[in-house]
Amino acid sequence: MAFFSKNIAIDLGTANVVIYIQGQGIVLREPSIAAVTDDEYKDVVAVGNKARMMLDRTLAGIKALYPLREGIITDFLVTEEMLSKFLVKALKRRLTIGSSTSVVMCVPCSITEHERKAVERAAKNCGAREAFIADQPMAAAIGAGLPINSPIGSMIVDIGGGTTEIAVITMSSIAVSRSLRIGGIRMDRDIIYYMKKKYNVLLSDRMAEEVKIEIGTAVNFDEVSSMQVRGRDLSSNMPVSFEITSREICYALKDTIDTIVLEIRAVLENLTPEISEDILQHGITLTGGGALLRGMAQRIYIDTQIPVKVTDTPLDCVALGAGIIAEQLNELKKSRRR
Ligand code: ADP
Ligand code: MG
Repeated sequence: MAFFSKNIAIDLGTANVVIYIQGQGIVLREPSIAAVTDDEYKDVVAVGNKARMMLDRTLAGIKALYPLREGIITDFLVTEEMLSKFLVKALKRRLTIGSSTSVVMCVPCSITEHERKAVERAAKNCGAREAFIADQPMAAAIGAGLPINSPIGSMIVDIGGGTTEIAVITMSSIAVSRSLRIGGIRMDRDIIYYMKKKYNVLLSDRMAEEVKIEIGTAVNFDEVSSMQVRGRDLSSNMPVSFEITSREICYALKDTIDTIVLEIRAVLENLTPEISEDILQHGITLTGGGALLRGMAQRIYIDTQIPVKVTDTPLDCVALGAGIIAEQLNELKKSRRR
């Protein structure tokens, strides 16, 4: 049997899993969702896109969940199983035990040491010889092409599904970092809450995310857009459809966005004058799916007066950075042995 010896990088995000294979680039992007049997065994029956279709549906004996909600692993075994299934899919076959494959994993900064070990074990259980856990902000910075090895301070803000990570990097190390248990999934929930309170209508998680992506804004632009939403009227229990505007969604998202911006300001307020100067000069780099929210970069600029740049592919940035580490891993190991 041939050995699969290319290194692999995995961004195990709270909303999406992205897998990169050495020499091939990104080979898989799927939501971090597992559909499990609703009993004590919690057998994983589907993962990713397939499981997502089951998210809002009531299926007999099966429930779909995000095992990494808010950056905390709610279920080790489910996470492990989900990861194995994604790896098998990405590699199109199981890794051969004894292969020289190394895995570089990025996990939310907020997970505990114990949880990190579980994730490492999951990679090893899939046949990888070694698993390295890379700091997520570092991988994001590498993916964004920031000058992390230089003495210049760089600030990276990664707004993911369940967490927002803010970090300042200089001389290849993280000088300051903060992790908030708030992100895109909280924004979806804000929209659901708003619709319930204002219209007494219940939206599905999927509809709420669609509304956010379609018309959500972080800044009240002059130009107002609108869309048709579908939900269930809570008094009649009947399905309803009506129009809502970007103004309303901007209002619904306000508290969550305020919290993120306040945290960025708090990090900025505690920097040394040298690093402050660097960041003022080079700007803040914004990444993660939340960076795609309309007006997010403008909103941060308005509140900090520091230029904000969104990375080219915010949803892939961490995986690309981890991929660069994976590409260089063998060289790195060789140079260490010397
Ligand atoms: P994680 O790293 O935690 O898995 P991602 O960086 O993959 O998260 O981002 C996923 C989040 O980004 C989801 O909550 C998703 O709804 C949100 N998102 C994706 N595209 C957009 C968009 N165009 N506008 C606003 N939010 C978006
Ligand atoms: Mg992420």
